[in-house]
Amino acid sequence: MNTDNAAPAGKDKSENSLSAQWQIVSGLLRAEIGEASFQSWIKPMAVRGIDDGELKISVPTRFMRDWIVAHYLDRLGELWGQENGDIKSVEVYIQSEREAVSAPFRRKTSPGASDNPGSDNGGDVSAKNNYRADISAPLDSRFTFDNFVVGKPNEFAYAAARRVAEATKVPFNPLFLYGGVGLGKTHLMHAIARHLREKSPECSVIYLSAEKFMYRFIRALREQNTVDFKEQFRSVDVLMIDDVQFISGKESTQEEFFHTFNSLVDQGRQIVISSDKSPSDLEGMEERMVSRLNCGLVADIHATTYELRLGILQSKAEQLGVAMPPKVLEFLAHKITANVRELEGGLNRVVAHAQLVGREITLEATQDVLHDLLRANDRRVTIEEIQKRVAGHFNIRMSDMHSARRARSVARPRQVAMYLAKQLTARSLPEIGRKFGGRDHTTVMHAVKKVEELRESDTSFAEDVELLRRMLEG
Ligand code: ADP
Ligand code: MG
Repeated sequence: MNTDNAAPAGKDKSENSLSAQWQIVSGLLRAEIGEASFQSWIKPMAVRGIDDGELKISVPTRFMRDWIVAHYLDRLGELWGQENGDIKSVEVYIQSEREAVSAPFRRKTSPGASDNPGSDNGGDVSAKNNYRADISAPLDSRFTFDNFVVGKPNEFAYAAARRVAEATKVPFNPLFLYGGVGLGKTHLMHAIARHLREKSPECSVIYLSAEKFMYRFIRALREQNTVDFKEQFRSVDVLMIDDVQFISGKESTQEEFFHTFNSLVDQGRQIVISSDKSPSDLEGMEERMVSRLNCGLVADIHATTYELRLGILQSKAEQLGVAMPPKVLEFLAHKITANVRELEGGLNRVVAHAQLVGREITLEATQDVLHDLLRANDRRVTIEEIQKRVAGHFNIRMSDMHSARRARSVARPRQVAMYLAKQLTARSLPEIGRKFGGRDHTTVMHAVKKVEELRESDTSFAEDVELLRRMLEG
């Protein structure tokens, strides 16, 4: 037990012994509420001192304070009371608002003498904003409608997104945006969210990835907070879920999403969803979910055309404030065709290089700086080619690239093929996973890491991989 307890019941305890006591109190709390809740709620607390028998604890946000007060204040008061007889009550306040908070929450350590912790309703708007900020992911300030270059391949999706952003009444539900990687789905989603928030600041517009949605749901399950979770998500005005393909095959998350979806649609709230595939092509998505997703407006973003790529390059160069020779832009638009993200990356590299070495941007310099990117775009290897090559090299069957067999003799070549697919194609981890018998993206990630490790430690393995790479790149 804590020796501080044996100290004479004196005046204020020193900072040091308070922090030692906090170690004990928070340790006990950690054991009671579990690691995840501890990290979210207890860890960010800072013990500030005792004033007239009242222990002062600060937290960074209002949302946090409200949550702690509602869920942990009683227990905090009890534990502190046991640890330090001087402490009669606990106050939790918001650090940034120290002066502004008029009625801080208090918790008496003696049972039966509690204040009502629900009584502070001041600052409703900021409470709501904090709450929104907590479940919504931040928006990228560059992803606006103004910065989105419209062309044939994306004009329909763009028009649909604008309609949702500008409408006063839900025009179609859901808006389902789909298209390949790096073609502007997230950009359009952010533009919608930003526009809606500017237009109606009181509206709660929640944007997050399907992956985040799932993690929040799992956390709520683990912490037995699903009621709060449901309430949070079913009370928003606009719900935007990015990359919904992520929850394909994840049954309980899908189930929860389905109910959230229905509840919001029933209340006439707008839903916007993005995906890398059309609803009907989403494997592992339940039939009833697919039919719900198909109910509104489905808008696809097609692969870019030369004209759109050139338009995007011109617009980005203008934003960067650099005068690019037209020849260079045309060259890039011709050569980098996979997606807009790569196109943008290519342009940024050329500009950064020129500024760094203080030289003019020329076609030769561009070819030089981007030789790896250009080569990859020049001759796009397919995942099938990689699998065939690697299978041939290690003398295994092509079908083993897709099979579930885990024997080292087939698993290792499969990992090499996944690694090369990641290196040599523009495919995303989930896409690669799917080409290898429907494996999860985490499996691909693991394979990439494993191969990287082996390349470090085993030179003959490293040579094998290098040889394969050179053969594939032709
Ligand atoms: P996705 O979510 O479809 O994978 P993003 O929205 O993240 O793709 O787009 C990738 C990058 O390309 C972003 O930086 C985005 O701003 C840019 N981009 C995509 N399409 C356009 C466009 N039509 N106009 C301007 N920038 C675009
Ligand atoms: Mg995206």
